[in-house]
Amino acid sequence: MTPPSTCQACRRIASGALLDYRKGSGVVHNDAFLQCDICERFACAECLQVYDILSGYDFLCHACAQAFGNPLPHRGH
Ligand SMILES: [Zn+2]
Ligand SMILES: [Zn+2]
Repeated sequence: MTPPSTCQACRRIASGALLDYRKGSGVVHNDAFLQCDICERFACAECLQVYDILSGYDFLCHACAQAFGNPLPHRGH
């Protein structure tokens, strides 16, 4: 499947800066939009956050990153 030419989150067209993804303290340039691991939308660098999690890369859009990054509320005490 070919990534779309516009971000599925903000609808902007793929261009240089939008394809420079942050990975930890570095930057990864990609030729196309990356896909969120959770909701599977293709998103630009401003909408997608790149993390090192365990031994691999994880690509999460803002919405999923917020859900993932925030500590879950403690349940049952
Ligand atoms: Zn975007
Ligand atoms: Zn997502």
